[in-house]
Amino acid sequence: RNRQLAEFGTTIFAEMSALAVATGSINLGQGFPDTDGPASLLESAAEAIRAGKGNQYPPGPGVPELRQAVAGHRQRHYGLSYDPDREILITAGATEAIAATMLGLLNPGDEVIALEPYYDSYAATIAMAGARRVPVTLHPPRFELDGDALRRAVTPRTRMLLINSPHNPTGAVLSRAELAVIAAVAIEHDLVVVTDEVYEHLVFDDAVHIPLATLPGMRDRTVSISSAGKTFSVTGWKIGWVMAAPPLLDAVRTAKQFLTFVSGGPFQYAVAGALNTLGADFYTGLRDDLTGKRDLLAAGLTAAGFRVYQPRGTYFITADVAHLADDGLTFCRELPSRCGVVAIPSTVFYDNKAAGASLVRFAFCKQDHVLREAVTRLATLG
Ligand code: PMP
Ligand code: GLN
Repeated sequence: RNRQLAEFGTTIFAEMSALAVATGSINLGQGFPDTDGPASLLESAAEAIRAGKGNQYPPGPGVPELRQAVAGHRQRHYGLSYDPDREILITAGATEAIAATMLGLLNPGDEVIALEPYYDSYAATIAMAGARRVPVTLHPPRFELDGDALRRAVTPRTRMLLINSPHNPTGAVLSRAELAVIAAVAIEHDLVVVTDEVYEHLVFDDAVHIPLATLPGMRDRTVSISSAGKTFSVTGWKIGWVMAAPPLLDAVRTAKQFLTFVSGGPFQYAVAGALNTLGADFYTGLRDDLTGKRDLLAAGLTAAGFRVYQPRGTYFITADVAHLADDGLTFCRELPSRCGVVAIPSTVFYDNKAAGASLVRFAFCKQDHVLREAVTRLATLG
């Protein structure tokens, strides 16, 4: 076994989804919608297969149609220009984008500052690159960035800042002021920033997603990552993308070639169509729908005795179970037998285990009747 992977076993998502199946529980653990994305999108993938589009190896950087569509989307939504040929790379989901970014840009011994709690593949891929993660902890209730803690985490070995907004698992959305602190630190210490924006369209209330690359001086030192999985409710398709200036993108592309080489040919055409054709109605509908689901689950959790930290983005709710159990890990292992619901113990997303010990994460990207049944079951906890 590779020593760098010694601390990594089965992912918490696989463990908890298997537990949900084995116990017949409602799975609010792993984040995936229980209804598939727009019919036009699904149909166009089937059409691409029938038309022989992408059934053989697509081009290494991704099909030109999709790279152009990603560029068009980035321009329309945020006013950012990327050259589809030199600055956009299609990957096997954001997961491969993250791995290729770490493997392409890091050297052994480099330090990566990541905001914790963090998505599990960050830790593993930083380790695969032989680099070291340095956590900066986001604290409840708002999980906002402590700029002083960020500054204190920088050392001469720091090479990269890794951020994620909207943030899994807390649902926090970085404000312009927080992004400005990140930009200032990156510029002062000449760091690359990797920004995982897979939940870019899942923001609620008055929250706005601001790509870090839009801040002055940041475009050319930022690697931006997104994916079709969350936006279009097709997490099984694994179509993601990386946007960065040529010197950074070249390094990521080199690593990506030897991970999957290419993937998902027909799906690339379908996602290109969705990016080009779905407009404001689609994005507003997605938000409104998820806002209702968030409110339904938040109210149910609150009534059941959880302390709920209202998310401003993503499709996750973080809740504190201090009044209901000794710790979140025990709570999540017992929850299926106690009431037939599965959740994720947030402690797995922390290096500072104490900071996340009593926190758990629930996914609300489920049909309303499923959420209502989950809430009914959770109400029996007490
Ligand atoms: N980053 C974050 C923050 C995520 O939550 C996820 C998916 N759960 C990913 C990356 C991976 O995205 P994909 O499914 O496109 O590989
Ligand atoms: N991104 C999803 C989550 O956070 C699932 C990821 C996975 O299963 N690897 O739940």
